[in-house]
Parts: sequence; C-alpha cells; structure tokens
Amino acid sequence: MDRRRILVIAGSDSSGGAGLEADQKVIAAHGCYAMTATTALTAQSTQGVSGIHHVPSDFVVKQIDACINDIGVDVVKIGMLASASTVDAVADALEKHGRPITVVDPVMVATSGAQLLPNEAVRNLLVNLLPLATILTPNIPEARLLFQKAGLQAPEINSLDDIVNIARAVQSLGPRYVLVKGGHLPLTKNGHVSKAEADRHVIVDVLYDGREATIYETKYLPSKNTHGTGCSLASAIASGIALSKSPDRTTDIPDAVEMAVRYVEAGIQTSFDLGRGSGPINHFHSLSM
Ligand code: PLP
Repeated sequence: MDRRRILVIAGSDSSGGAGLEADQKVIAAHGCYAMTATTALTAQSTQGVSGIHHVPSDFVVKQIDACINDIGVDVVKIGMLASASTVDAVADALEKHGRPITVVDPVMVATSGAQLLPNEAVRNLLVNLLPLATILTPNIPEARLLFQKAGLQAPEINSLDDIVNIARAVQSLGPRYVLVKGGHLPLTKNGHVSKAEADRHVIVDVLYDGREATIYETKYLPSKNTHGTGCSLASAIASGIALSKSPDRTTDIPDAVEMAVRYVEAGIQTSFDLGRGSGPINHFHSLSM
C-alpha cells in the first residue's frame, strides 16, 4: 500500500501531549508514515517544562539524511528547533535535499512559558528558514516576534482585519503561505478582540498566499486541555498535504488547512483530563471517542 511519508524535525515532549509524540499520533491518525529527526528532549509534564537537553546539530542532520536518503519524503514538518545552529543546519539540509514541501511551525515559547527557542535564534529562523517554508504557522505572539526581528513595527491586534494584515506582512517575509493562528485572541461576534470571557465567540485562523486571505472560523471552546494544539495542527496540515492527489500537492493547501482546523477542533471537543495541568487534545477522535 502507498504510504505517504512525513519527516518530523522537532523536540520530544515526555508527557506525550505536544512535540514529536503528538506529531506521530496525528500523522498515524491520518494513515501516513512518520519519521523523526529529534532536535531536543524535554522533561515535561502537563504542568510545564523542567529541563531541555539539546541534540547536537550535526546529529540532527544525520537523522534527516538517514531518513531521506533511504525512505524518501513527501512532506517535512518542522517544530521546536531549540538552537540557532540547528535552525541553520536544518535549512542547509532542506536545500541539500531539493527543498521538499515543508510545514514550519515556528515554535518559540510553550504556553506554560518555557523558552523553546532562544531569542537570538529567531533571526536565523527569519533569514534562513522562512524562505524554505511552503507554509508557516505562527500564532500571533510568534508572528509579532518575527515581524520585530525583521526590523518592522509589530502592529496592535484589535480585530479580524488586523489579523489578516499581520498574515499579509509575515507572508512578505518569505514563506509561500502563512497561517496565522488566532487561538490566543478570541473574537466577539463583531470581529473585535474580546475583552471579557463572556464576549468570546470565535477563534479565527487566517491563511494568506500572497494574493488572497482565507479565514477559518472555529467556535470558541473553553478548555484547559489544549496542550500541543499548535504541533497537532501543523502535523495535520502536513498530513493533508501529503494525502493530496493533485500533481502539485501545494495547490490543495487551503483544503488541507480546513481539514486540519476541523481535526483539532474535534480533538479539543473530545479532549480528556490527564495530570494536574493542561491535558492533551484527543488525537484519535475519528477512531474512538
Ligand atoms: N514541547 C515541545 C517539545 C513542543 O514542540 C511544543 C510545541 O509547540 C511545546 C512543548 C508547546 O506546546 P504548548 O504550547 O501547547 O504547551
């Protein structure tokens, strides 16, 4: 049977909710085959990150080469890169392997506050990796940081229009598509950033391809179990692209994003409590609730 191959270049989350562990569950749930190049190990629970152990950059590249030279790859998914030298080494490896279709989740800071990429490495991400990204999936704080590193004034975000504008601005920094995730800023019924819990109505994710914006709306779902939603969304997008039947799979990116947004939405709706902190989403909701 033809299995679509996805190489995940990311960090491990020992608690299984985010990082490589989440990525592999998502990819398996979509019937694709996951390979991994591990950039860092995190000692992590549902309550936070208690330690990070970096994998040397040349060993990250060894893992990438071993997978691609033997098995090949349909889509690369990038998550936590952990250091400036790994950002640069991964960018060089992607060039060497002929610029495969690549989903880049620019992981910088965990929801718990742990720094997963040093601040000085954001510039390497901007200059060396963004131009190689088929689709970049920042949340709003990450989009603002990339913007600042580009020496631009990061705009205030007060409305849906502002989210569309920041998606346009980030797309002009290099990636082919940008999906700005609005999960940190729920909107009111009128499309303004909500000031009170009672006003929270929708979450919007905005895709921009250099010409037009596509807006994906999700009903605001109050849940503490959202650990790893960013990793899961990016891996679901990678799976959607890998499964595309079009000769140029990138033409189906808006459909892959729609599928991925609905996959994560259902995962939050059926998430479960684990540990004392923020639990994971349900990665296998389509198989068993
Ligand atoms: N840990 C690792 C290894 C990750 O790659 C990520 C991904 O963003 C996180 C933690 C952060 O997850 P969250 O922000 O949902 O806590």
